[in-house]
Amino acid sequence: MLLSGTLRRSLAIATLGASGAMAAFATIAPRNETAVVPPTSTVVEALALQAREVPAPSQYVQIEQFQRGDTLAGFLGRLGLEESAISRLARAPALRALRPGAYVQADVSSDGTPKTLSFLTGRDTLVKIVPQGEGFRALEEQASLETRVTMKASVIRSSLFAATDEAGIPDAIAMQLADVFGGDIDFHRDLRKGDRFTVVYELHHLGGRPVRAGRLLAAEFVNQGKTVRAVHFGSGYYAPDGKNLRKAFLRSPLEFSRVSSGFGMRRHPIQSTWRTHQGVDYAAATGTRVRAVGDAVVEFAGAKGGYGNVVILRHNGQYSTVYAHLSRIAVRRGARVAQSDAIGYVGQTGWATGPHLHYEFRVAGAARNPLAVALPAATPLPEQQLGAFRTQAEPLVARLELLANANLALLD
Ligand SMILES: [Zn+2]
Repeated sequence: MLLSGTLRRSLAIATLGASGAMAAFATIAPRNETAVVPPTSTVVEALALQAREVPAPSQYVQIEQFQRGDTLAGFLGRLGLEESAISRLARAPALRALRPGAYVQADVSSDGTPKTLSFLTGRDTLVKIVPQGEGFRALEEQASLETRVTMKASVIRSSLFAATDEAGIPDAIAMQLADVFGGDIDFHRDLRKGDRFTVVYELHHLGGRPVRAGRLLAAEFVNQGKTVRAVHFGSGYYAPDGKNLRKAFLRSPLEFSRVSSGFGMRRHPIQSTWRTHQGVDYAAATGTRVRAVGDAVVEFAGAKGGYGNVVILRHNGQYSTVYAHLSRIAVRRGARVAQSDAIGYVGQTGWATGPHLHYEFRVAGAARNPLAVALPAATPLPEQQLGAFRTQAEPLVARLELLANANLALLD
């Protein structure tokens, strides 16, 4: 999971605070070996003398993030552990629960011997590893996370992620936002400067500090003057009137991510070239994931003239979609795919001057402008659930309105 910078820093501090033994360190910066060194006013003149007189800190706390691509040994080295401890620890089964993105707090002796290692797992438990004899012992306890409902609003100036960063909204919430409105808004092509949004979401806390985003509970997005709203209910998202926000087709075949979002604000000549070209081009970095816009069967997957590597999907009814110039194809002919499944990766095979996705939407075999086609609607909430839905939706929608109005006032 991705967290925003603010959240990452907060997490580091929260993890620190979570260790009882090291609670005294919790109010200072994570890299705090210098914290026990006395005031430095005389250091310049008497450095040699002081260096002898002041004992080196016997123990310190180090916090590091375990990152994608890290080897366990390399990572433990970064925590300041000595060689033999590293090789013994690398075999500790408890460390298998360590996932990229997790912060590990190590209480380490000055000789590199670990006193405790602790981290929050993906299943919200706090693992503590302590030395025992020649080996290590692991304690795992349920982390007492507290969930708070958080509200934020922001305005698009350059990209969705720039806007969420500015407001301190976690990446996980930005992705959920793009996902929830993925049937209404093409986040690669439709966003405009001045678009604005409001989100209500869960933020899980540990020891009073935010550690992880939860579910997006409600959202409003004003795109090119048009307002869409979503409220979480059951396992889906619905408009305040109970209409299902999940659509038979996604508006964009490109997966939304921090990498691909940078292309979002570039305008592409859609209407101007439509007549001759019968498709929509998405400029995107080679390797960007291309997803099925709807549930389908793979009708074709392979190389085809100017299309280069191309995937053609057959959907329900008369609909089919075409994804061309792929660098790599991820599906086989005849396979069933679900909406949002990866079917290939952006490239520039065939007649392409640069990496991009050529996307066609066909109705009964004829290419049509996806922006102009009336698409089938998804099933709304059943009548008997509407009462429960309204009860849940009302306070959330009220919050959205409150924040949207405050946000507007700020913009004026
Ligand atoms: Zn094209």
